[in-house]
Amino acid sequence: MNPHQQAVHQLEQVASLLKDHYKDSPEFKRAINQLKYPDRVIEGEIEVKMDDNSTKKFTAFRSQHNNARGPYKGGIRFHPGVTKEEVLALSTWMTWKCAVTNIPYGGSKGGVIVDPKKLSNVELEKLSRAYVQFIADYIGPWVDVPAPDVNTTPQIMAWMVDAYEDYLKENNRPLQENPLATFTGKPLNLGGSSGRTEATGLGGFFVLEKLVEKLGLTRKQDVTIAIQGFGNVGYWFAYHAHKAGYKVVSVSDSKGGIFVEAGLDPVKTLECKQKHGHLSECFCVDGKCDISGGKSITNEELLELEVDILVPAALENIITKDNASQIKAKAIIEMANGPTTPEADQILADKGIILVPDVLANAGGVTVSYFEWAQNLQGYYWTKKEVVAKLQPLMEDAFEQMWQMKENKQVSGRMATYMTAVKRVVDTMILRGI
Ligand code: NAD
Repeated sequence: MNPHQQAVHQLEQVASLLKDHYKDSPEFKRAINQLKYPDRVIEGEIEVKMDDNSTKKFTAFRSQHNNARGPYKGGIRFHPGVTKEEVLALSTWMTWKCAVTNIPYGGSKGGVIVDPKKLSNVELEKLSRAYVQFIADYIGPWVDVPAPDVNTTPQIMAWMVDAYEDYLKENNRPLQENPLATFTGKPLNLGGSSGRTEATGLGGFFVLEKLVEKLGLTRKQDVTIAIQGFGNVGYWFAYHAHKAGYKVVSVSDSKGGIFVEAGLDPVKTLECKQKHGHLSECFCVDGKCDISGGKSITNEELLELEVDILVPAALENIITKDNASQIKAKAIIEMANGPTTPEADQILADKGIILVPDVLANAGGVTVSYFEWAQNLQGYYWTKKEVVAKLQPLMEDAFEQMWQMKENKQVSGRMATYMTAVKRVVDTMILRGI
């Protein structure tokens, strides 16, 4: 199955569980059929004048899946492996992600087939501006709000804001269309939101707090956590978990991981990694790094550790049918996008491992993007404390809704999350008579 077929298959599974609730009505069937394919897919080639004066064409996409609950919302990916089917699927998953946290957005996604590492900075800027020209007629603060995704950065968003402003001026469109509120994930100096950098990891931490409460794990200092990936998401998850008193016993990066039985200090571990260029031997506890304080492990070993909570926060498809049966954690919080394959999902469910899926666990990022948009629209900016205070109840409510659905319907965490999200979107579509 390609990713879009997978997204449609998931939707059909969810629809079969929801159909009794809607008494299999024609409106329900119509909404589900409509949700199988995006509202609009923009596809074409964009041209960039390269540094050697040649002109190169790149295939580009923007998929706008559904906007029943609010403007389309989704990142832009620059990657050689981008495909149309992937962009379609990711836009569908964005609709569910926004619905899960109940933020007033639909779902979209963009992509360009390009290896940005092979472009100079000037070429990257031209590509980013050309992409805006390509989608400019179809975006805007109340239409579709793009953001960074794989290989797109706050700097790229800054170029995009500028290119969109140029486009509005050239087309005699009013600047009330608010270029700042048309893109999120911008630098702080250009309308970005305070707290965005750590939002995804922090959102995951709020999920962790709810999960351990449900699992009845009352002594935080005894709750052990292993985190694969020590980048933006993994680090901030580890940071907040450690600060709250949990025992983060293992973290890893692409070169391998470390295991510290006493529980590691994420701040010192990051400092050590930055100093040495790798994590191995960064066995830091309570502010001190001691070379004999732990052991180096592989990424495969990390996944199989006997811990309470396993947190994949690096790559997709790393829990597969080949290693799922070896997983010993009580619960998994999927901070990476798509870390578990469908076959592995079934094996984990059969083993009774509780799983909080990506669309819920890592929704802190898009939620703070929503806050950024809201701040840009009102021209009034919040402190980090205010951002955190607004993020917490949204993540907690999203978790609670999922948990209730899971308990009531006796389904997996993933299915419960999708059921909650799809139901919200379908209810809105029916209300609007779409
Ligand atoms: P990042 O690039 O900052 O960090 C990725 C980490 O994964 C690094 O520590 C890297 O060394 C590690 N890694 C790479 N290959 C690995 C391998 N083979 N084995 C183990 N570790 C490996 O990326 P990030 O922003 O932290 O994103 C991580 C995941 O979270 C991705 O799946 C991303 O799509 C998802 N996500 C991120 C955000 C966000 O706001 N950054 C939001 C939602 C979802």
